[in-house]
Amino acid sequence: MANGKKPDFCTECRRRTEYELMKAVSKETIREKEYKFVYTTAICKECGQEMDIPGLLDINMKERDEQYRALEGIISMEDIKRLLDIYHIGKAPLSLALGFGEVTVARYLDGQMPSKDYSDIMKRALCSPEYMKGLLNKNKCKMGETAYKKAVKAADELEDLFRISDKMRAVIAYLFEQMQEVTPLALQKLLYFIQGIHMALFDAAFFPEDCYAWQHGPVYEKVYALFRDFKYNPIDDDRFVLFTRKKQELPNDGKKVVDLVVKSFGGYSGKALEIITHSEKPWLDARRGCGDKEPSHVVIPKEDIKEYFKEVAGKYGIDSEEHLNRYIDEKLRRA
Ligand SMILES: [Zn+2]
Repeated sequence: MANGKKPDFCTECRRRTEYELMKAVSKETIREKEYKFVYTTAICKECGQEMDIPGLLDINMKERDEQYRALEGIISMEDIKRLLDIYHIGKAPLSLALGFGEVTVARYLDGQMPSKDYSDIMKRALCSPEYMKGLLNKNKCKMGETAYKKAVKAADELEDLFRISDKMRAVIAYLFEQMQEVTPLALQKLLYFIQGIHMALFDAAFFPEDCYAWQHGPVYEKVYALFRDFKYNPIDDDRFVLFTRKKQELPNDGKKVVDLVVKSFGGYSGKALEIITHSEKPWLDARRGCGDKEPSHVVIPKEDIKEYFKEVAGKYGIDSEEHLNRYIDEKLRRA
C-alpha cells in the first residue's frame, strides 16, 4: 500500500492530494456484544476527509480479525498453520483428527473465524502432544492410515523433546523471549550461569536437571538433544511455540536471574562463554584427568556449582549487571 507520501485521488477534493495514515476507532456489535476496533485510515491533508486508498481495506480486515481474536482468545491463523507443521499433517486429516468436519480447518485458513470451543481444542492440541495423540487415537478410523501414522510419529517426537522439567522449559521460554537470537552452544552456557547465580543468590537449584562436563563446557544433555539440529545457528523452530506457552510459570526471583544473565553473559558469543566456563573450577574439577580433546560424561555436582558461584558473589558480587560484567571482563582478559 502507498505509504502516505504519494498522492492519491480524493473524492472530496476531486483531484490527487497527499494524505496521512492515522488510527481511528470503530464500534461494532457482534453477537450482541459491543467491540471497539482500532483501524488504519487515510486522511486527506487538504480537506481532512477519509480517503479510499488501494489496499487499505485488506489491512483493515486483517486489523479487525487480529483484534477480535485477541479480545476473544481465539487461536490465530499462524497458530493453526503451526499445528499443520508440528504434527506433519494436512488440513483435511487435521480436521478429522480434531473431530471437526473435513473442510473446517481449510475454511479457518481461508479466514473463517473458529468458534471458541473449536479454537480451544486447537490451542490445546498446539500445547500438548499428549492431548493431540489422544485425539488422533480417538478419530483414527476417520483418517487415512498414512496420515494417522505420520501424525502420531510427530507427536511422539514432540513428547520426547519435552521430557525436560517444567522449570527448565519455563527458563528456556523466557530466555528465548528476552534474547534476539541464541545458538545451542550459547544456550548451554547461559543455562549454566543461570543455575549457578540462582543457587548463589537463593541457595536452591533453579531447575532439577544435572549439568555434565563435556569437552566444550557444561552441558544440560536433554536440552542439548532438543536443539542439536540447529548446530551453530540460532535456534528457530515452530515446535518451540510449545515453550512460549510456558513462560508464565516462571517465578519473579527466577526472572530476575535470567534478566541478569541475559544482560551480562547474553552479550557474548557461545565461544566466548565457553572460554569463561573453561577457566571455572566446577568444570575443571569434573574434567580432571581428561585430555583437552577427550570427551567426558561426568556430572558437575550442583554443590560444586553453588559453592563456586558463592565465591564469585563474595569476590565480585553477582546481583547486578555491573558486577557480573566485571567478572566476565576479568575472565576474558586472563584467557
Ligand atoms: Zn481532500
